[in-house]
Amino acid sequence: MVVVVVLVVVLVVLDVVLVGDEGELVVTAMSVAVGDAVSPDVHDATINDVASRIRAVRGDRKSFMGEPTLRPEASRFDVIAFDADDTLWHSEDGFHAAENTFLELLTPFVADGVDLRAALVATERANLSTYGYGVKAFGLSMLEAALSVSQGRVTAEVMERLLAIVRELLLAPVRLLPGVAEVIIDLARDHRVAVITKGDLVHQTRKVSTSGIAHLFDHVEIVLEKDPETYVRVLREFDVEPHRFCMIGNSVKSDVLPVLEIGGHAVHVPYHVLWELERAEHPVGHGRFGEVENISEVPAWVRHGSE
Ligand SMILES: [Mg+2]
Repeated sequence: MVVVVVLVVVLVVLDVVLVGDEGELVVTAMSVAVGDAVSPDVHDATINDVASRIRAVRGDRKSFMGEPTLRPEASRFDVIAFDADDTLWHSEDGFHAAENTFLELLTPFVADGVDLRAALVATERANLSTYGYGVKAFGLSMLEAALSVSQGRVTAEVMERLLAIVRELLLAPVRLLPGVAEVIIDLARDHRVAVITKGDLVHQTRKVSTSGIAHLFDHVEIVLEKDPETYVRVLREFDVEPHRFCMIGNSVKSDVLPVLEIGGHAVHVPYHVLWELERAEHPVGHGRFGEVENISEVPAWVRHGSE
């Protein structure tokens, strides 16, 4: 009886911290609360260690309380993973604004009829395998395109402006999209929830850690590329079968097609701007593919969408 009472108290604490909004403080509180229930040496635990203890407590809760909202086996999925940029927070609109500034700054240096935007995209495409994704890759391509389209006549002042844009993009505060935190809290009740994002390790790590929602995730994966091989590796790390995995994201090319290819489920949530290099045909009539208008519709799709 004493054990049951102690665990109930811990679970009440856990619910409070799960819906809290205190960043690192919440993670610490979770460590202590869950550690008291499971193991005394939890204080040095990583976030993933803490998450595994949360899962253990969720299972315990179901077994003796019959709590209907915390039954992992009741869901069609074990893990729900979210793309980050333009799915959890704004990103591409910043790049789009930077592109427009690039066009304004370079127009005086090129002849009429030169398509500056196409030149920039072509440079990005050519550099993708060398630089990878993210702001720094975009910045190097922007500088290269500026030198190229102006045939070396671009001024130091313009180059300084372009460098300043890159720095501003890297330091811009994270702007969460509406409803994101509520959706993750909702789905975390009966799933493991993860972030899978590609791009620059330093920048993506900073965005995740300053987002205010990092504590809500069981896993955070920053990958070089979102291809089928990468998803196979990540799902193995998550210890989840593809048919029990669902990916949520704004890019059909990166978040949908490779996941469907390996046997997983995917939901497309559109963002109002899409990077040219992320364009892809949407699947039609695919049983493991869903499309919603905004992220607030995701929990309903996850629970009922393709049944
Ligand atoms: Mg995205």
